[in-house]
Amino acid sequence: MQNNKSIKELENKVKKTIKKYKLISKSDKVLVAASGGKDSTVILYLLKKFGYNISALHINLHLDRYSDRCQEAVEELCRQQNIKLHVVDIKRYFGARMCYIRQNVQEKINVSNCMICGIVKKWLLNKEARKLGADKIVTGHHLDDESQTIIMNFLQGNLMLGANSGPETGSLKDKKFVPRIKPLYFVSEKDIKEYSLIKKLPVIYEKCPCAVSSLRIKTRHFLENKPAEIKEKIVNNFLKILPRLKKQLHEQKIIYCEICGEPSRNQICKKCELLNLNKTNA
Ligand code: AMP
Ligand code: ZN
Repeated sequence: MQNNKSIKELENKVKKTIKKYKLISKSDKVLVAASGGKDSTVILYLLKKFGYNISALHINLHLDRYSDRCQEAVEELCRQQNIKLHVVDIKRYFGARMCYIRQNVQEKINVSNCMICGIVKKWLLNKEARKLGADKIVTGHHLDDESQTIIMNFLQGNLMLGANSGPETGSLKDKKFVPRIKPLYFVSEKDIKEYSLIKKLPVIYEKCPCAVSSLRIKTRHFLENKPAEIKEKIVNNFLKILPRLKKQLHEQKIIYCEICGEPSRNQICKKCELLNLNKTNA
């Protein structure tokens, strides 16, 4: 009975977010970025359950056995749910495993593991989604992720860093840019985990072995035991100022990266800026 209540509550919250922010329509071709972790697995499962036109994309980062286990978990869910799965192998794309790409960048500049990995993944997701003709990219970002990011940006004295966030990344309007959406925006990590356990979904619960970004870890610890209402307040307050931040961002022109041709705010996109340091750009 309790389980049924938790399931219904989470499902209704996701439906409400999709409706309120007009995230997906039934005619949209939706690509779910599926890491094998609980968050993206739950949203992949839910969007299939709700009857949307979805497929999944997994990026194999070649972080040894961890990446194999993640890919196997995504394959298992897609098999169970009859979802078309696309797999991108980072080695085939960049000729190197994520650890090697990162190491090369970090020999030149001081950037965190998660920052490099995140930039490369975002770049790959957009490029692949466009190639597959997707209208939207779905990620598994949730209430805990988003409240952490807002606090982190605040601590770094730059809320503008979050101007491209919210349930939909809507500031980059460009034909080469596929909007990224976050239907789990208002759902807590705890509830997502509970849902995945109740539904017995194939999930890799262990954290990425390379996730050692110190500011994120400190912020996560700070917020960890705070009630969900506090995190809701953080995101809801941020959403109130977001239109103003987006307006500022809109005033910046979108151009195409001189190296890879992807949409960017600068002549060279972030991915090429990082990977060019070690001359392994795609
Ligand atoms: P992270 O940046 O690792 O917290 O992941 C945030 C979201 O990005 C996840 O919920 C997924 O939707 C997506 N994602 C992360 N890693 C991968 C991956 N290896 N393949 C596909 N999507 C991913
Ligand atoms: Zn580029």
